Amino acid sequence: MRGPGQAMLWFILTTGACNLSCHYCGGGFPPKYSPPKPQYKVEDLVGLIEKSDPRPVVFFYGGEPLVNTGLVIELIDLLGDRAIYGIQTNGILYKRLPEKYWAKFRTVLLSIDGRESITDAWRGRGVYNKVVHALGFLKDVREKLGGPETIIARMTATIDTRIDIDVLHLLKGLGFDKAHWQIDAVWSEEWPVAAWAREYYLPRLVKLARWVASRVKERLYRVIPFHGIVSALYNGGYNWAPCGAGRNAIAVNTDGRILACPIAVREEWATIGEISTGFKPVNESMMRECVSCGYYPLCGGRCLYAQVEKNYWSKEKLQELDWVTRKTIDVVLRVIVPSVEKAVERGEISLEDLSYDPLLESTEVIP
Ligand code: SF4
Ligand code: SF4
Repeated sequence: MRGPGQAMLWFILTTGACNLSCHYCGGGFPPKYSPPKPQYKVEDLVGLIEKSDPRPVVFFYGGEPLVNTGLVIELIDLLGDRAIYGIQTNGILYKRLPEKYWAKFRTVLLSIDGRESITDAWRGRGVYNKVVHALGFLKDVREKLGGPETIIARMTATIDTRIDIDVLHLLKGLGFDKAHWQIDAVWSEEWPVAAWAREYYLPRLVKLARWVASRVKERLYRVIPFHGIVSALYNGGYNWAPCGAGRNAIAVNTDGRILACPIAVREEWATIGEISTGFKPVNESMMRECVSCGYYPLCGGRCLYAQVEKNYWSKEKLQELDWVTRKTIDVVLRVIVPSVEKAVERGEISLEDLSYDPLLESTEVIP
């Protein structure tokens, strides 16, 4: 776990239910694994957070967290300024939460996959336009009340994604502050991920990397996978999944269980405690297949869930995904790092600019 005084990331599932049914997810969790409403007293959760963490980072999660804004309001009212707040949301129900609570979030991650046709094909018709409205609303709130500080486009990269076009659409076209993505993997049906990466993803990732490299100071921080990999290179590297699962980040399920990973509501290995009794970190041996990999310091094993769960994608498919991860890191090292080094030499960029803490924004870094 993190050292004394260091913040931990707390995912709070406000509900297991979701108002959408995206193709790669299917829409929320079954109530028997993650009930629609919390089954515990919020005061008990506050007690656990205060006992375990002097400076918690609290992210609201689901299901879709805005389905139950009651818990968001109650927890923020009780914890006040003792925590740093954020939310991962599809944004559709943004009107349900009063502006003053939106302003309290340091970070808002809005789910959107890129261009309208891509977002609506995977998330549902009309979703893109609703997210664009939510983004406009959040920018107005920021103007009026000073927060949220950072609005991140949280993308799922699928077989339809053209990563340079979609990321730049979100950053330049819509004006998101940053973009982060994860490849549609493990939970969905197997698909030809290596062939897609060879033909589309990796060549276009090079184009996106060149866009960043041409003005590294202003652009590196906006593309989170690139920033997170560069940060690891200059700051000692990862020694666990960048998301922190089960060690630096935990999830509180609506049934009161503490989970190592917020999507692992069904998996026994992921239950690491209860609100009533506290929790223990997962064993480091869970990442054993990665620690001998030369990419581990820049990758951290990518995703604990995918390392442990072998019942979804076949070994061959997971190896394809692994190949894509390594090639992604190679692109950053080959295209971006030389520009970073030059910018550091010229004094244009500081080590502070290069540092990225994924726990403050609840990102996984490696797509
Ligand atoms: S590249 Fe693959 S094997 Fe290597 S650390 Fe990352 S996930 Fe593990
Ligand atoms: S990256 Fe994997 S282990 Fe980490 S939070 Fe996401 S699903 Fe869980």
